[in-house]
Amino acid sequence: MRPYQYYPAYPDGKRKAFTVSYDDGNDCDEKLVMMLRKHHAKGTFNINSAMFGDLDDAPEPRRWRRMTAEESVALYGDDMEVAVHGAVHPYWDCMHSESLLQDIYEDKRELERLFGRIIRGAAAPYGRMSDDVADVLRLAGFTYCRAGKSTKRLRLRRFDPMHFTGTVHHRDPAALELAQELADASGDDGQLRLLYVVGHSYEFIERDNWHVMEEILSTVCDREDIWYCTNLELFDYLAAVKQLHWNVDQSLVENPTAQDVWMNRMRIYKDPEMITVKIPAGQTVKL
Ligand SMILES: [Zn+2]
Repeated sequence: MRPYQYYPAYPDGKRKAFTVSYDDGNDCDEKLVMMLRKHHAKGTFNINSAMFGDLDDAPEPRRWRRMTAEESVALYGDDMEVAVHGAVHPYWDCMHSESLLQDIYEDKRELERLFGRIIRGAAAPYGRMSDDVADVLRLAGFTYCRAGKSTKRLRLRRFDPMHFTGTVHHRDPAALELAQELADASGDDGQLRLLYVVGHSYEFIERDNWHVMEEILSTVCDREDIWYCTNLELFDYLAAVKQLHWNVDQSLVENPTAQDVWMNRMRIYKDPEMITVKIPAGQTVKL
């Protein structure tokens, strides 16, 4: 038995990651995207391709509106991820399969046409998910789907990307505590940590609490020890980690993927001499 073990790390050997997932493509996203860029963070915006510029779906006057397709393309740019959120924001878990397939596929097709990229992420409208929805998303070429209740835990344990739940909604008082916990975590205990904040940016003006996001970002951003990624970058990286091939002695590791992967080598729990190993894309490394 080797005296040390290898633990998956994020890019550059980091052990903590931060991302956000915001829904419904409304004009408050503009301020949120600016805040993320100011703090060198990234996020994913889940939008509805058949509801651009829709001013009529509100039951009462409101202080926000859905952006047009042109505004959305101009805002999210190349650094933010755009993901499917149902073409017309339907109840995916209740639809019959033909309607479900059509809504998901048409949403993916339209967003791909507008943004000129392959769309592989989804957030279930109303957070409502089912095994049938997951099957359709897999068949349609999706990599992950966000749904359900937040975990309120930073430690990244075993999870199914098609039934992924975020860490915390920004309005939850636990959000600021978790942000501080992420900043404070030493990251030398073998655990990968993730703070994945969810919500709708229009809630910030409805509740007059933009300061909450500013506090979260000032707590976790602009740090060397945290990886800032979109949702898809996170899932693609974790998938690449799983594809590594090891020999029994753990003296050889092969990376068959197209992206570099990092591991941390530790002798003991909280090893002060933890080292970071990079396994470059397409290469076999002798350890
Ligand atoms: Zn929504």
